[in-house]
Amino acid sequence: MSELRPANQQKEVGNNALGSSVYRLSAEKRERGTRGERDRKRKGNPLISNLWLLGKRGAKLSELLFFPSFCRLCHRLLDQLGERVICRPCWQRIHPPNLPACSTCGRYGEIKTGQDVCFNCQQEKWSFSFHRSCALYQGEIKEIILLFKYARIKFLGKDLANLALSFLANSFLWEGLDLVVPVPLYPKRKKERGFNQAEELARHICRAKKIPLAPRALIKIKDNLPQASLEAKERRQNVKGVYELIQKDQIKDKTILLVDDVFTTGSTLNECSLILKKAGAREVRALTIAQA
Ligand SMILES: [Zn+2]
Ligand SMILES: [Zn+2]
Repeated sequence: MSELRPANQQKEVGNNALGSSVYRLSAEKRERGTRGERDRKRKGNPLISNLWLLGKRGAKLSELLFFPSFCRLCHRLLDQLGERVICRPCWQRIHPPNLPACSTCGRYGEIKTGQDVCFNCQQEKWSFSFHRSCALYQGEIKEIILLFKYARIKFLGKDLANLALSFLANSFLWEGLDLVVPVPLYPKRKKERGFNQAEELARHICRAKKIPLAPRALIKIKDNLPQASLEAKERRQNVKGVYELIQKDQIKDKTILLVDDVFTTGSTLNECSLILKKAGAREVRALTIAQA
């Protein structure tokens, strides 16, 4: 299992270069470029890196003295560099399930010995070719997803996307992808939350994998009942006619990855991928962070 490292954790560097090149720092300061240029210069220059790290540590120390913050899950003091909202030990307690997954729907622990497709997938035909999620919707991961969505802590999207990239690093989910499409949120809901959680996850995945993102290819045109409040049969009905494709030309002949936060019955992903397939997508795969 790959160990999750918070995205903004910095590499520690020695401070042996400190003191000898103070004048180079002044010159560097005068030569201000874009943020990206400054980051590149900092990484390439040990003195700048050391001073930057000292600055970060000083800021962390002031934060600990005047505005201490605690892990939202275990209440431990967040005293390590790069820790935000959730402490590192809480992240490290999340593991991929040690259970075989159905090769189609990706459900963990549902397949019988000698088979690779679960009973449900033998009965039901999905419009996506296969789905994978990286954890079960319980414990720390459930709490983090709830904080991400309902406490509106947007930057947790990057950490959750990193979790998926790490746990599913060897999956063939990523092979030959042309485009990533997030499951859309109804505009009013997006406005209330301030962001679409699926779009945030998809954005970080696209950045890491260098795959184009189509955040507005699919839109949600009806504010249906929350899927969580319904039975499996009602969920399939509840998503009919709710989504619409508005960028058909982007979809044709493409291998697409649909992204959402949680997989429950798969009705939402099935409906969205059906629309993409009808518009001529070559293949649609699905990724979620956790399965309920
Ligand atoms: Zn914690
Ligand atoms: Zn299955």
